[in-house]
Amino acid sequence: MNVMHIYCRVLLVSALSSVAVTHGASVRSYPEHPSSDCGLPSRPGNYRPLPKQDFKYKWMSANGNIYDFEIFPGQMLELSATELLDDAYFAEGAAVISNMMKNSPEEVFYALVTRGSVGFFTWEDKTTIFPEYEHLRDRPECEGICSGSCSDTCTGDGRKYDTLAGLGGQRATCVDSNYMCLSDDPYGNMYSVLVHEFAHTVHQYALPHSSDYWQLIYDAWINANNENIWDSHSYAMSNHLEYFAEASGVFFNVNFHFSSSGGMNSCGRPSGYCQTETEAREWLRSKDPLLFDALSFTYTNYNPDIPGELDVCPL
Ligand SMILES: [Zn+2]
Repeated sequence: MNVMHIYCRVLLVSALSSVAVTHGASVRSYPEHPSSDCGLPSRPGNYRPLPKQDFKYKWMSANGNIYDFEIFPGQMLELSATELLDDAYFAEGAAVISNMMKNSPEEVFYALVTRGSVGFFTWEDKTTIFPEYEHLRDRPECEGICSGSCSDTCTGDGRKYDTLAGLGGQRATCVDSNYMCLSDDPYGNMYSVLVHEFAHTVHQYALPHSSDYWQLIYDAWINANNENIWDSHSYAMSNHLEYFAEASGVFFNVNFHFSSSGGMNSCGRPSGYCQTETEAREWLRSKDPLLFDALSFTYTNYNPDIPGELDVCPL
């Protein structure tokens, strides 16, 4: 739809600069922010598909139960993983998605299952292993190049799609290193890319078909801008999509990025974060009730006292 395209273009030029943050005793280098798939290049004329890949699958029912088979065809959310992904990591990723969606309104869940899906991958695979994104894979002649005919291998801010920890399009993807908090997590075990990207998928592919919240979130973002509720220069405020995705990470208390949420995760502390999910949700409710209402509907069917039971690192 037109509105989505207008604001998705904004998103690709709004990435954060590379900075360092202190976490415990160590200083970690923070990468730029992942992109959503809004405004992704279409398949080029010289597009050559990858050899067909084999994926592993799980299926999630509306109550959040995970199955190895699609026992209710057309009524379950598809979760896929590459062959290289550890089976235990696949189960942990599925559990994150379950905790995000198991209390959602049924109409949101069923809108999602016919339009969205999830994919887990390893750094060796790259996010472009999935059919939805394979036309964005780097090509030998484009190594180190983002200009001209190679522009379709890079985000608008000059990163190769192959280097992204996740994408939040029709298939929400995330690398195991991030959501399993492995040593090569580029987000330093402080930020769930999986929750952020899956929030994009729910927002774009479920809410417009199941509620008025697509428009209401847009209106809330405009209001937040007008009222200066959050840092207007933050990634969260760059458009209505990042506004909702950043807030989703805060709602589940898995977003400890120092600045990308524009203050959503600070709970008012000059340099610090919300201590608990309950505190984070109360902060969102008190500062930005329109945004909180959308989160409360999307993830809890207006029962925000139900805990999300998520952590940045699941183990
Ligand atoms: Zn995003």
